[in-house]
Amino acid sequence: DATDTTDIAVLKHIAHTADTADVELELLARVPDRLYIGGAWVDGGGTGIVVHDPATGRVIKTIAGASPADGIRVLDAAVEAAEAWAATAPRARAEILRRAWELLQERRDDFALLMTIEMGKPLAEARGEVTYGGEFLRWFSEEAVRISGRYGQSPEGAGTMVVTQRPVGPCFLITPWNFPLAMATRKIAPALAAGCTVVIKPAELTPLTTLLFAQLLEDAGVPAGVVNVITTSDSAAVSAPIIADPRLRKLSFTGSTAVGRRLIAQAADGVLRTSMELGGNAPFVVFEDADLDKAVDGAMLAKFRNIGQACTAANRFIVHADVADEFAQRVTERVNALRVGRGTEDGVSIGPLIEEKAVASVEALVQDAVDRGARVLTGGHRPERDGSFYAPTVLTDVATGSDILREEIFGPVLAITTFSDEDEAVRLANDTEYGLVGYVFTADLARGHRMIDRLDTGMMGLNTGLVSNAAAPFGGVKQSGLGREGGLEGIHEYLSTKYTLIPT
Ligand code: NAD
Repeated sequence: DATDTTDIAVLKHIAHTADTADVELELLARVPDRLYIGGAWVDGGGTGIVVHDPATGRVIKTIAGASPADGIRVLDAAVEAAEAWAATAPRARAEILRRAWELLQERRDDFALLMTIEMGKPLAEARGEVTYGGEFLRWFSEEAVRISGRYGQSPEGAGTMVVTQRPVGPCFLITPWNFPLAMATRKIAPALAAGCTVVIKPAELTPLTTLLFAQLLEDAGVPAGVVNVITTSDSAAVSAPIIADPRLRKLSFTGSTAVGRRLIAQAADGVLRTSMELGGNAPFVVFEDADLDKAVDGAMLAKFRNIGQACTAANRFIVHADVADEFAQRVTERVNALRVGRGTEDGVSIGPLIEEKAVASVEALVQDAVDRGARVLTGGHRPERDGSFYAPTVLTDVATGSDILREEIFGPVLAITTFSDEDEAVRLANDTEYGLVGYVFTADLARGHRMIDRLDTGMMGLNTGLVSNAAAPFGGVKQSGLGREGGLEGIHEYLSTKYTLIPT
């Protein structure tokens, strides 16, 4: 009973009207608060998780936490369901995913509000995530019936060679807090379409969306054991035995490069297949011939979407010296018009950062840049209100070597450096261990193509600040990861190739 763990008076106080408080309470009361194993909601043997509203720091719900033994129990459930799910007709799997997409449209408001409450993003963006996250269900419902192989003669003429694709087997999916729904659907949908069963472990900061989504999947007809959810605030202890278990056949992780590296090392013992969607440090290059209206629009989207907390967030604005002042002045005007507040409030586009630690980290990056000579055009401080907020900020003249150019900012800070020719832009853009996405603004199509070829990234936006799409392969090179999610490629992360020779 959520009312046991939710402070109603506090929620009524923080929500902006009594009506919205009631809506939030009613929604929170409906969110499951236990582990989902083999189609049943069960208690966990570990410490419970206290979930907070980052806009206020208040407790919104307490849910069950798994023990390491629960981790094995949940894998048991996925293993037990694996054979039957792999044998389910692709069309049947497709129709369940399609039904899940339809249910998500019907329950759009619940999912959007829940993400805003537990993660902090503005409601309009949360609705956008429901659309984006939902598209993976629809796309992979369409891909489930198109899994195909090859057939050919051996070059010697001695036989036929048949190549088929089989589900890889039980998968362990670990997701981050920044896109609570989309990071789950981007993994669950292709896994189910391929015929795999899964255990998903959402981030401890935002577990509620995944729990509500598990309920939706059950309603859509996903059989017991095909999708299982464990929640824990001790991810390392609960995940390690699952990863070490030889029955697990695949690990798909989205999160920081530091944790990804550790998981790759753990996966090495069992030669476990992995997909790794890790951090980013996206360059946003503006040439002197760029349409500055488009570049400024693109910058606002690439930087301030999700309060700057996206792996695809533009981290380094590399702007031609001839247009740098004008670009800086125009983005500063736009940034000054952004409203900071709880994501449920009207007109808010900058919600809180996920937790206090995140604000301290952004503060330290800004301080380091300023110490090295950067100028603060706007922001550069915490706004005067409670909660883990940081004011949207523009920095210019950011010196080479500043931490803010090397590390993921993960906050609403736009940092500008300048360049004077194309080679220098390429060198600066590639000067990072990451390689997720790059953004380039230029009116010269040939130059745009050259930049696409020369930047070491898995994805590029040419004259746009947003590239994510369920129909496109999302992923990075270098330390941004391994594998791709979405597109034609996404389902192959959950399939293994089998070749058979049939002598004639
Ligand atoms: P994180 O690495 O701290 O955590 C990610 C997930 O891993 C969470 O579920 C967490 O509980 C779990 N985890 C942490 N330590 C673990 C361990 N030892 N064993 C098993 N699980 C463990 O990342 P975060 O702070 O939640 O997310 C932000 C990061 O995610 C950023 O670096 C961002 O760039 C990245 N990200 C990448 C993509 C992408 O697609 N490339 C998308 C979104 C976020």
